[in-house]
Amino acid sequence: MPRTLEGCRLVAGFLRSRALGRPFILSHLLTGRCNARCPTCMWRRPQESSTERPGTENALQASGTASGTASAVAPAGELRTEEVEKLYRQAARAGLVQLVVWGGEPTLRRDLPRLLWTAKEAGLLVTLITNGHLLGRRWPELRGAVDTLILSVDDLGEAHDLLRGIPGLFERLEELVGRLAGDPLKPRLLLNTVLSGANPGALERVAPLAKRWGAGLYFCPMETGQMQSGGFDERLAELALAPDELRGAAYSALRLKALGYPLLSTQSYLRLLQRDPELTQYTCRVPRAILTIEADGSVRDCLRRDRPLASFAQIADGLGLEALYRSPRYRAMAREAEACTACNNPDVVETSWLWDLRPSMLRKVLGLASL
Ligand code: SF4
Repeated sequence: MPRTLEGCRLVAGFLRSRALGRPFILSHLLTGRCNARCPTCMWRRPQESSTERPGTENALQASGTASGTASAVAPAGELRTEEVEKLYRQAARAGLVQLVVWGGEPTLRRDLPRLLWTAKEAGLLVTLITNGHLLGRRWPELRGAVDTLILSVDDLGEAHDLLRGIPGLFERLEELVGRLAGDPLKPRLLLNTVLSGANPGALERVAPLAKRWGAGLYFCPMETGQMQSGGFDERLAELALAPDELRGAAYSALRLKALGYPLLSTQSYLRLLQRDPELTQYTCRVPRAILTIEADGSVRDCLRRDRPLASFAQIADGLGLEALYRSPRYRAMAREAEACTACNNPDVVETSWLWDLRPSMLRKVLGLASL
C-alpha cells in the first residue's frame, strides 16, 4: 500500500475508533524472553532459561514453534501460534487498526512471520519493535509483512553492544539497514533510543545515524513511574535521568530538530519536558487508544498490572475484544488513567494528545506515513 494511503487509513481508522469509543492500536508483548540484557529494561521476563543467553540464537532454536506449521506447544507463559492468530483476527474484526508487536524480543518466536502475515491479511497495519540481532537472518520470511520497523539503538558501535549485552549487534544493524536500503518492500524505519544514565549524550550521536539510515528517531527517557506502580525492581531507578538531565535531553532534541535531524517527538512534547521534566501536566488517554495484551494473552490493567482485566481464555472464547473494552471495568480503568502520569515517554503523552485531537498530532501521524 502506498505510504500516503497508509497514513490516511491510519488517521481515518483512528477517527472512526475514537468516534465509536474503542481503542485503535493492539499492543502485543508477544514474548517475555529476550536475547539482550539491557540494564534499563523493565519488560524482560525475570527468570530466563539457560537457552536465552545474551546474544545467542539458542532461544530461537528452543522456542518450539515453527513458521509454517501449527504449534501444539508454546514456550511457558506465551500464547500458541493459533491463539495469537485468533487474537489478531479478532482484533481486526473488532475494528482495531494497528498492531504493535514487541516483548521481550519478538524475533525469538519462530512463528513470527506466520503471525505477522496473519495480522496483515486480516487488515491490520503491522509495526515490529526489535533489537534487530536476529532480523537479518529472519528477514527473508518477514519481508513484506512489516509496515513499520522500529529498531532499538541506544548508542553507536561497541557502546550500543555493551548497553544491550550483545557483542557485534551494532554491526549487524548496519548490515541489515544496508540490505533494506535497496529493497522495494522496505518498511518504514524508525529508531528508538532509551535515554538513561548509561548513555549520556546519546541523542547527539544517534541523530546523525538516523539521518544517514533514512530513519525517524524516537527517544524515551527511561521509565521510572511504572516501576513504582508495577512492582519492578526499584534499583533500576538509579539509571533514570534526573530532572536537569531530562531538561538537557529536551533542549538537545529541540536543537537537533531545528538542525533538520529526523527527531519525531513534537515540539509540544519537548517543550513540556523542558518545563516539567517529571511530566505531571498531561491527561493520559492511553487505555482509550491502546489495548495492551501481555505475553500470556491477558489484558493489561494499566493501573494494576498484577490484576489483568481478563485472561486470554475469556477474550478468545466468550467475552471478545469488543465487549471487553465496553465493559465497566475497562471503562473505569480508562477514566482512572486520566489522573495517572506514571509514564514519561512521548508515546504515552503524544498518543493522549492524538486522542484529544490536537491538530499537531494528526499532522504528525500523516507526516510519519511519508517516511
Ligand atoms: S500514564 Fe497512562 S499509560 Fe502510563 S501507567 Fe498511567 S494510565 Fe498507564
